[in-house]
Amino acid sequence: MTQIANELSFSQKLNENPKSVVERDAILANPGFGDYFTDHTAVVDFKVDANGEGGWQNARIEPYGPILMDPAAAVLHYGQEIFEGMKAYRHADGSIWTFRADANAARLNASARRLALPELPVETFLESLRQLVSVDQDWVPSKDGDALYLRPFMIATEAFLGVRPAREVSYRVIASPAGNYFGGELKPVSIWLTTTFARAGEGGTGEAKCGGNYAASLAAQMEAEANGCKQVLFLDPNNDNAVEELGGMNIFFVFKDGTLVTPALNGHILHGITRSSVMQLAADRGLKVQERKITIDEWREGVAAGEITEVFACGTAAVITPIGELKTAEGTIASPANGIGEVTNAIREQLVGIQTGVVEDLHGWLTRL
Ligand code: PMP
Repeated sequence: MTQIANELSFSQKLNENPKSVVERDAILANPGFGDYFTDHTAVVDFKVDANGEGGWQNARIEPYGPILMDPAAAVLHYGQEIFEGMKAYRHADGSIWTFRADANAARLNASARRLALPELPVETFLESLRQLVSVDQDWVPSKDGDALYLRPFMIATEAFLGVRPAREVSYRVIASPAGNYFGGELKPVSIWLTTTFARAGEGGTGEAKCGGNYAASLAAQMEAEANGCKQVLFLDPNNDNAVEELGGMNIFFVFKDGTLVTPALNGHILHGITRSSVMQLAADRGLKVQERKITIDEWREGVAAGEITEVFACGTAAVITPIGELKTAEGTIASPANGIGEVTNAIREQLVGIQTGVVEDLHGWLTRL
């Protein structure tokens, strides 16, 4: 399928019944995570024409609301869907910024290739964020630690029950004010190690940000919650029980000698944008950064021997979260650090500082919306 490249400009249909200022302020005072949505949504449609040529069209801002879809739409049957997750941050002077949005655009297109969806021009992706945040700018929180979570996603809307890539697709962005992901103060979280379920496998979709990966993680997440844990850790059972990642976060280990280790991108770990930022900031501080295989046995033995001094998870939603203990069916691997480790805390403060405009953005990661 060839794709027509075109410059898209967004039309605007404003919501005639936006939330009242009182309602909005009440939400912003206590946004939680993923519970409330702004007044508008950005939409761009994709269609393949009779000549087999596909193109993006009808870019628009419209009121937030239900999507009318044919019950035979491919996404409802075969899960042909991808998404992104990122945040818009309000700085002290009132300006609004995104963090490494170009990396989210690139990852969306990598996911699109894996799910046989059309790639979206990077400029259209960035413009969709600018347009939505511009019309819903009053929804960007100014409270410390809060931000506007942006959720771009792409769904196969063609009504057709054959199994083939859909010829009609819709790209959308919704936005949701977000507070602390795990709720309350930053404190170490307990993680459950599942050996019942795997998240991904060689040649599968683990590297793509597609809905199916998250549907498949829910049974493991329920297992974690039944064991009193907030998140689940997945291993690669076909590779010596190598540590992969959490249900929605990447993982790092700090070693006594100042080395930072994270599982190598092996084709079935998500290319976390926080992960890559942490690696850069750690290297800037003179830490040695290694992307390599690390097994659950190395974790257990490293903590016991005092070689591993801190373990943390990272992702857009919760930024950097210390891992307290890892609970497993065969016992608990305790937290090496007492509370929040020194390296974990330093990198976290620097990263949050860059995102919120109080630490200099030496890598040019911020884009003004
Ligand atoms: N792994 C998984 C499975 C995720 O869903 C996420 C969240 N997108 C991450 C890692 C962290 O990625 P990022 O830092 O880009 O948010």
